[in-house]
Amino acid sequence: MNNIYDYRLDDLKEYFKKLNEKEFKAIQVYEWLYKKRIKTFDEMTNIKKEVIEKLKQDFSIEPLNILKKQIDTDVCKYLFELKDKNRIEAVLMKHDYGNSLCVSTQVGCNMSCTFCESGRLKKVRNLKSHEMISQILQVEEDLNIRITHIVLMGIGEPFDNYDNVIKFIDIINTPNGIDLGARHITVSTSGIVPKINEFAKNPKQVNLAISLHAPNNEVRNQIMPINKAYPIEQLIESVKQYINKTNRRVTFEYIMLKDINDSEINAQELSKLLKGINCYVNLIPYNETSHIKYKKSTKEQIMKFYDTLKKNNINVTIRKEFGKKVSAACGQLRSNYEEER
Ligand code: SAH
Repeated sequence: MNNIYDYRLDDLKEYFKKLNEKEFKAIQVYEWLYKKRIKTFDEMTNIKKEVIEKLKQDFSIEPLNILKKQIDTDVCKYLFELKDKNRIEAVLMKHDYGNSLCVSTQVGCNMSCTFCESGRLKKVRNLKSHEMISQILQVEEDLNIRITHIVLMGIGEPFDNYDNVIKFIDIINTPNGIDLGARHITVSTSGIVPKINEFAKNPKQVNLAISLHAPNNEVRNQIMPINKAYPIEQLIESVKQYINKTNRRVTFEYIMLKDINDSEINAQELSKLLKGINCYVNLIPYNETSHIKYKKSTKEQIMKFYDTLKKNNINVTIRKEFGKKVSAACGQLRSNYEEER
């Protein structure tokens, strides 16, 4: 049975049209689901009984199950169980500008980045759109807050689950629904070039972030196998074309790994690579995990790297560190949970 949260407003309009019902019913249903946040079809009191019965026959409405949660001052991490018992994570971060939720897009991940905890579990399956939406609805209800920003930076590679991710964005961006502004949504990719090209044609003003993490092919091949399929030159070229088409600034994420990608030479290489591109670089202090050998760069090294980029006129920020206490790197909660058992 299809989950009702997998339906775009237009899909529901189509559904009602086929039943010879007014399209307006779709808007009413959307408002029950996303504005009033009901849990059962029976609560949709302005919809007539026989339509409710039909909805019950045709759709499921179940949310994800919260299995575990870890709270810190500015961050709250959730482990969810899916209907098929697979597990995924979502992380809520409280910023001064609002509440941002880091959403998972797959069970496991096939990108095999050597520094990343999520990739230790290979992809089991893609998440459906409703499973991404439920992460938002459940966290909002649990903490009694409104989420203002979405980052697709949890477990999984969003562009390896392209259609469900695009549908998810369409649904949460719908004004009769959750109504999250496109500019408040960021998709992060390890660099699947054909999908970046496809994404450039999407009319929504969604932000794009690229997990670059290295200034040259030698280092990038070593830490991100995807680079062998789409080397840096191809990646940068597709980002340039994306910017040309969309006029939007792109973010490059750069994890600072001690003695791997954090030297002065690397900072110079990165400046040269990104010169003249409408972008900014987000330096991310590496979140160490017990299973992986990499260390985070020292504060001094990060500052030196930052200064070099600044001197070379590259826009750069250092990401605030979240959730030291709550195993905040993608995939850590799931893998720790499984080890405890
Ligand atoms: N697959 C997508 C989105 C998921 S990863 C991508 O690669 O962009 C989201 C971000 O977290 C990526 O930039 C990833 O490289 C980074 N990341 C993974 N493990 C991390 C860790 N231990 N510390 C800090 N950042 C990490």
